[in-house]
Amino acid sequence: MTTGNSNLPLVWDFIDRKKEVFTELADRVWETPETCYMEKLSAAAHREMLEAQGFRITEDVAGIPTALIGEAGEGGPVIAFLGEYDALAGLSQKAGLSSHEPLVAGANGHGCGHNLLGSASLLAATALKDWLEKTGTPGRVRYYGCPAEEGGAAKAFMVRSGAFDDVDIAISWHPSNFAGVQRETSLANCRVDFTFTGRAAHASAVPELGRSALDAVELMNVGVNYMREHMPSDCRIHYAVLDTGGISPNVVQAHAKVRYVVRAPELPGLLALIERVKKVAEGAALMTETQVESTILAGVSNLIVNAPLMDVMQDVWNSMGPPAFDDADIAFAEKIRATLTPGDVAASWNQERLEARDIPLADFVLPPHNEVRQMGGSTDVGDVSWVVPTVQAYGATLAVGTQLHTWQVVAQGKSPLAHKGMVSAAKAMAATGLAAMTSDQLREAAWADLKKRRRGQEYTSPIPSGAEPPVAAMTVK
Ligand SMILES: [Zn+2]
Repeated sequence: MTTGNSNLPLVWDFIDRKKEVFTELADRVWETPETCYMEKLSAAAHREMLEAQGFRITEDVAGIPTALIGEAGEGGPVIAFLGEYDALAGLSQKAGLSSHEPLVAGANGHGCGHNLLGSASLLAATALKDWLEKTGTPGRVRYYGCPAEEGGAAKAFMVRSGAFDDVDIAISWHPSNFAGVQRETSLANCRVDFTFTGRAAHASAVPELGRSALDAVELMNVGVNYMREHMPSDCRIHYAVLDTGGISPNVVQAHAKVRYVVRAPELPGLLALIERVKKVAEGAALMTETQVESTILAGVSNLIVNAPLMDVMQDVWNSMGPPAFDDADIAFAEKIRATLTPGDVAASWNQERLEARDIPLADFVLPPHNEVRQMGGSTDVGDVSWVVPTVQAYGATLAVGTQLHTWQVVAQGKSPLAHKGMVSAAKAMAATGLAAMTSDQLREAAWADLKKRRRGQEYTSPIPSGAEPPVAAMTVK
C-alpha cells in the first residue's frame, strides 16, 4: 500500500467489532422505505445510532428536517463521510426472493440500496472516530446524513448553507455490482418550472379577448426543440407538461405549466443553457401576450473526481480484495441472475469497459483506468465535489447484472451478500479517511487536484439564492 499507514488493520478492526449493529441499521432503514425529504424514520434511526456511538449531533441542516450531521473528535482536519437513506416510489419488494413480489403493492422500496449506503458511511465514520479516540490523535470526523438524493438535491442545499465550508476531504460510496473506486463524472442538472398566465375567454365567441397560456407552452417547447440544433451535443433537455390549462377546448387556457430538466457536463455550461431556455420562455410569452414565471426547483452540479484520493482508495481495495462471499451468497446471486436479461448483464460489464465473465458475484476489484467517464445521470454528490475534494467507492452488494432502481435491488437489500459488500465498502472508506486524516501531503495533493479540475471556476450554486429545499412540495421527482 502506498498509504504507508500501519494503522489500517486497527481501523478495520473497529469496523469488524461493530458490523452487526450497522447491519441492523441498514435492515431497519430497508424496512421503512421513505422518499424525497420524507425520511423521518430513516433519519431518526441514523440519529439514534449517532447518539449511541457518541457523536455530537446537529439536526435540521440547511433547514431540512431529515438532514443531520454527527461530529466527533477535536481539532485537526475534518474528514466527512456522506450517507443517504432515501427510497424510491413503487418499488416495494419482499426481501430474499428471486421473483417479483411486492411487500406492499404500490409502496416504496430501497431500489437504489441507500439503506446500505447510509449505514456503511456511518460505520466508516464510527470506525475512524474510534481510531481517533484510541490513538489520541487530533482530528474531526463527521457523518453527513443526506436525504432526498433521488431528485431532491439535498446536498446542494446543504452545500449552499455552508455545511461543508470547513471540510477537508469528503468520502462516500454507492452499492453496485462490483467493488472498487468510482471513476465517473456525472452531469450537472437543473429542474425548472415555467408557469404561464394568460386570459380566459370563450374560444369561439370572443377568441380575440383570450390569451392562451397553453399556446405559450407549446411555442416554448417548439422554440427549445429548434434550439437543440445549436446547443452543445453533450447537453440534454427534457420536459413534461404539468398543467395544460383545463380540459375544455372551448375555453382559452388562462394557465399552463411545463417542467424542464436541463443537463450539461459542467455547471457553467448548465447555467448558460438555462438562461437560453428562459429566453425562449420569454419569447413564447411575448408572442402570446401572456406572462411567464420560472422557478428553479432543484439543481445539482457535475461530479469532479479526485486523482490523489482515487489512487489511495485503489490501493486500499487492492490490499483488501473483494468481499468474501460464501456458497449461500453465490446461490442466491445465481437465482437473481436468472431473473435478469442478457442485456442487463452485458450493461454491467460494458459500464466498466470490462470483458464479460460468467460469474454471479464480483470476485475481483475493479482495475484502475485513466479515462474518467461520463455517466448518463446526475447526483447531488456533485455539489460537494466542487467545494471539497471528494472520492467515492463502489461496493459489491448486488448480483452481477443487477440494474439500479429495480425490484431485484430491493430483493437483495437485506441479504447476507449485501451486508458483506456494505461492510467491505465501509472498510475502503474508513481506510481512505484514515489516510486523509493522517497525511497533510495527501490532503494538499487532493486540494491541488480539485483546483486544477475546476480550471479557475468558482463554485456557483445551481439553486437560486431565494429557493428553499422543496421539503413540502415533494413534487420534485
Ligand atoms: Zn443511488
